[in-house]
Amino acid sequence: MEYLSPMLEVAEAIIEAGGKTLTTCYQCGTCTASCPWGLFTGLKVRDMIRKAQFGYEGFESEDLWKCVTCNTCVSRCPRGVEIIDLISAMRSIMAEMGSIPKSLKTAIASIKSNGNPWAGERASRGDWAKDLDIKEMAPDVEYLYFPCCTLCYDSRVKNVARSVAKLLKAARVDFGILSESEVCCGDPSRSIGDFAQSQDLIASNTKLFKDAGVKKIITSSPHCYYAFKNYYKDLPDVEVYHHSEILAHLLNSSRLTFNKPLDAKVTYHDPCYLGRHSGIYEPPREVLRAIPGVQLSEMERTGEDSLCCGGGGGGAWLEVKKGERFAELRIEEALQTGSSILGVSCPFCILMLEDAVKTLNKEDSIAIKDIAEIAAEGL
Ligand code: SF4
Ligand code: SF4
Repeated sequence: MEYLSPMLEVAEAIIEAGGKTLTTCYQCGTCTASCPWGLFTGLKVRDMIRKAQFGYEGFESEDLWKCVTCNTCVSRCPRGVEIIDLISAMRSIMAEMGSIPKSLKTAIASIKSNGNPWAGERASRGDWAKDLDIKEMAPDVEYLYFPCCTLCYDSRVKNVARSVAKLLKAARVDFGILSESEVCCGDPSRSIGDFAQSQDLIASNTKLFKDAGVKKIITSSPHCYYAFKNYYKDLPDVEVYHHSEILAHLLNSSRLTFNKPLDAKVTYHDPCYLGRHSGIYEPPREVLRAIPGVQLSEMERTGEDSLCCGGGGGGAWLEVKKGERFAELRIEEALQTGSSILGVSCPFCILMLEDAVKTLNKEDSIAIKDIAEIAAEGL
């Protein structure tokens, strides 16, 4: 075993970069046993943490970039080790040395130049809403709708933002958007390890939200939701909701009703950042159950045990070999329920699961739709 020199400096650097619980780990191995990578090649989380604790060479191996920040290990660790924070801290040390996978570098470079990871032009951030007559956010508007970079720029996923806007309008919700003034929420940069970039984005959006008098935010991405709730320390009084929560509330208060039945069996995939990270399991299901004709069928792995789509923690930008893709496994699980629609509530899940449907040639068997898209069809 070779040592990094001086060894303890590595552990100290990880702690300083946010891995405060590094020394709490007592090496039980529950994390490695519960990590979904165990379904394929494995990810030796316990081993990685041990190497980091002692400053041994190897914590910075390829495995470091495999973690999809699904939170399964964190939720099961008996010592309360914040494993994702440790991994992000290790990534940040590598990122500072410029040592990150090429596809992640591309995403980071695009965020730097364009304010989003998809190489979309700043000026076209609000194009998804052009014909929808949505007002500009102002202090007298109740909600800011923050659709996320993927919804603004991905030609397929844009339909989620459009569906949410149509539903909010149907329920007469007072909301506005900020279009090209907003930038990425900072979650991808942070999970990839570029903490400085994440902080810059947070500062930029924080100023923008303060100037626009934002008091309540509706997000469509659970990653934005989590970022606003946990990383935007200068906006302590701003209320943050995922669109599934708002839609469930509008249905329960009879402000939103459906006219068209949708006769379909639907199964629902819990996104990691909405479920395990944020504890939101029921609202998306309430929305689906409220649509006439929808028969909701659960997969075997559901709720807290949901299998990650593979898109978090930078996974959406990483090349993963066939046979090692969580999304393909998830599609197989969804098909086992006999459902013709797989409902989701996260843009990364849509991208990853739709890719998997295409790779598996199952486009005629199952469609991937956000719960807002399914709901908008029922208007
Ligand atoms: S589950 Fe927690 S205590 Fe056990 S090895 Fe993993 S990080 Fe350490
Ligand atoms: S967060 Fe998920 S992918 Fe990452 S190490 Fe933990 S269980 Fe594995």
